[in-house]
Amino acid sequence: MRCPAAHSLKLFAVLCLASAVSSGVFADTIYLKNGRKIYATRVTQENGQVTYETPAGRLSFPLSIVDRVEHDDSAPISTVGTPADRAANLPIAPPVALAAPAADPGASAAVRDGSIDTDLLAKLESEAEANPTRSAVARLVTAESAAARFEISVGDFERAASHYNVALRLDPENIGLLLETAYLHLKRSEYTAASDLLDRARRIDPDSAETAKLSGWAYYGLNRAADAVTQWTRAMELNPDEETRKALEKAERDAQEEAEYHEGETTHFRLKYNGAAAPELAREVLKTLEFEFDDISATLNYVPPEPIGVILYTNQTFMDITRAPSWSGALNDGRIRVPVEGLSSMTDELARVLKHELTHSFVAQKTGERCPVWLQEGLAQFMEGKRSRTNATSLFAAYEHHMEFSLSSFETSWLNLPRDAASNAYAWSLAVVETIMTEEGVGDMERILDRLAAGSSAEDAIHAVLHSDYPELMLSTAQFLHKAYE
Ligand SMILES: [Zn+2]
Repeated sequence: MRCPAAHSLKLFAVLCLASAVSSGVFADTIYLKNGRKIYATRVTQENGQVTYETPAGRLSFPLSIVDRVEHDDSAPISTVGTPADRAANLPIAPPVALAAPAADPGASAAVRDGSIDTDLLAKLESEAEANPTRSAVARLVTAESAAARFEISVGDFERAASHYNVALRLDPENIGLLLETAYLHLKRSEYTAASDLLDRARRIDPDSAETAKLSGWAYYGLNRAADAVTQWTRAMELNPDEETRKALEKAERDAQEEAEYHEGETTHFRLKYNGAAAPELAREVLKTLEFEFDDISATLNYVPPEPIGVILYTNQTFMDITRAPSWSGALNDGRIRVPVEGLSSMTDELARVLKHELTHSFVAQKTGERCPVWLQEGLAQFMEGKRSRTNATSLFAAYEHHMEFSLSSFETSWLNLPRDAASNAYAWSLAVVETIMTEEGVGDMERILDRLAAGSSAEDAIHAVLHSDYPELMLSTAQFLHKAYE
């Protein structure tokens, strides 16, 4: 029996969360004079510069373009909803080597007043193409990577990638540039693209610890645990750090266990399972997943860029490998990990678990892992076929007694929730998602996910698409429950 609280979204989050939660992540919002808004952590002001954390490292703006900075130290906030916080969720920090070490003031002006000077970029590009001297290329790289980092900071990864690509075309052997671009691909789950760039970086400099470290991550994403172990071992020899040590330890557990596993492969999945699981079951799991892949893909209008890893475990191995708490059911940490002991063929329950976990993979990748947990869990339950019928009366009564659910309190990990609070959170999350899907339609849901992917906070995304804030969405949900089920 799978307990509703038994689920957690990311294993790295499961394993590392204790420290992340206790230290607390605090939110600041930088309001630029041009109206753009940047969510950030650790914003400081010094010498006419505003400096803040982003997934690409620390960034600075001249104070002159900043309208104001709002600090919120009152409460830890989502580690899901903002680009800067998302970096904290990543198992591996951004590379230290930068594409353009010395800032050329002329080229840095590519990002000015909170927007990108496309005329300047075009000019630098045509200059570098017409006459690719070292300094012309360096100016272009400085400008394009500044533009890319700016786009990362405001959550537009697509545009960031195209800036990096222009720079790489003119300077294909720039290690810092290769690493920065690979890091961006890693964050978008584009492991093959990352791996290609890292192979190039390794040919140019075989002794770069950073290349080895990021390569380990790419291989791990490609479900090649043994290759990840090789790269992370190399990184530890070259320049040991705690982050790599932990990643290596996890990959070693996987590699060791999976060395004796059988494999199965379809277009969209790489399945591994140990000898104790029936080959027949493994085939059925793949067949079920492929079927559900098409369904979820059509609903969410998204195709994940890489095959998704799936591992079937006996129950004890699942605990040993994932180090998940004993109440844990299936897990999704980028790979779908499912205990299947005692099963010899597909059951309805297993099919639901697979669809639930697969939905998490889609939503995490489609939003660049920016989806708040309530929306993730609501969608996963909705897609697996759950509806609010049995909970409708008690949820509506709770709402009437002003005991409604606070969406903003459930954007981040639910791991520390007591079991009752967790079941309540699952029930409300499903009800809210059911309301949006039924009353507004899947198109609106897709637009919400797109806004999250572009860096919007969860409530901003909801507001932009549904024209409701969180309390209004809860009111619509209560009304929907009453109308549909009472
Ligand atoms: Zn779930």
